[in-house]
Amino acid sequence: MTPKVHRFLEEQNPPTPCLVVDVDEVEARYAALQAALPVAKIYYAVKANPAAPILERLVSLGACFDAASWEEIRLCLSAGASPEQISFGNTVKKVSAIASAWDAGIRLFAFDSREELEKLAEHAPGSKVYCRLLVDNYGAEWPLSRKFGTTVESAEELLADAEALGLVPFGASFHVGSQQTSSSAYETAIERVAGLVHRLRDRGVDLRMINLGGGFPIRYRDDVPEIDHFGGAISGALVRHFGNAIPEILIEPGRFIVGAAGMVSTEVVLVSRRGRQDGPRWVYLDIGRFGGLAETEGESIRYPVSARGALSPLMDQVFLAGPTCDGADIMYEKSYYELPRDLKSGDRVEIAGTGAYVSTYCSTSFNGFEPLEEYYI
Ligand SMILES: *Cc1c(COP(=O)(O)O)cnc(C)c1O
Repeated sequence: MTPKVHRFLEEQNPPTPCLVVDVDEVEARYAALQAALPVAKIYYAVKANPAAPILERLVSLGACFDAASWEEIRLCLSAGASPEQISFGNTVKKVSAIASAWDAGIRLFAFDSREELEKLAEHAPGSKVYCRLLVDNYGAEWPLSRKFGTTVESAEELLADAEALGLVPFGASFHVGSQQTSSSAYETAIERVAGLVHRLRDRGVDLRMINLGGGFPIRYRDDVPEIDHFGGAISGALVRHFGNAIPEILIEPGRFIVGAAGMVSTEVVLVSRRGRQDGPRWVYLDIGRFGGLAETEGESIRYPVSARGALSPLMDQVFLAGPTCDGADIMYEKSYYELPRDLKSGDRVEIAGTGAYVSTYCSTSFNGFEPLEEYYI
């Protein structure tokens, strides 16, 4: 937790559940990533946290944006971004969204199938397009599965056809999976893209851009490699495969920019032993899977959880669950968590690393619970 967030929670003691994000920390993360990978242009993945104070701060720093919908594009434009700073990075877009984006001046679009390429040709003529490749997500704690991306062979054919369709075959992209802890995932993917770039060059198609996607990890409960380690591995791979002819490089970080800047403050609703005197206690918080902690599914993302206030230093194992009546509303049952032995209802519990993929995953009023309150300080 940053000192600013700590002070805010101490002084304001806001009603729970709430998310507090230190916008200066967002700026520091942006600067650290830019320093680790100076060759890359940063396109912030808006879906990680689309709050206006974050977008506005990033605009002031000269960032670009990866938007996944027309609504996200509108948020970027309202925050002061110009259309040239926005990439429409979703490979699955409604025709109406493509048309609105094109009308607003967006000229950079992703695709991974022929039908999407043809939609772009019709509704975003003359735009620069890049094809997303399917790459291995091994090493990612929140993988993106096989939902996105195509094979190198089909990417080659689609990009070779783009010009005849009135589009600019601009580049290729991939995403190695979110919270990717292994730098070799990027190196392997870069090698694959390089093969594509070289083969297309032999066919007279000159790709000018590679988009390395997001995935850069943050520390939750476990250590992850420093961002400089990823920067070094990626820069090395680019030099190995492209020599001194490195194309324009884009990255689309989400989690890395905002995750560590946020803290959720919650209240304990109930501590129960359920008749099993020796088993772990169940601790029910006023936030759960439906209140924004969706990434606890499968216990994939293990947030640091700690109690606040004057409580016993003696700790016991707990299971953590949310307040709703849904049986799936359990955060941690298999991962080992412990909280003070004398924890009781009304106590405060803080969940760190919640700046990314929490606020927008919050349901609007499941079981009648109000959505998470947000503070950007
Ligand atoms: C979600 C997403 C990102 C951001 O990923 P992080 O792991 O949060 O960095 C980037 N690009 C695309 C296309 C995405 O879908």
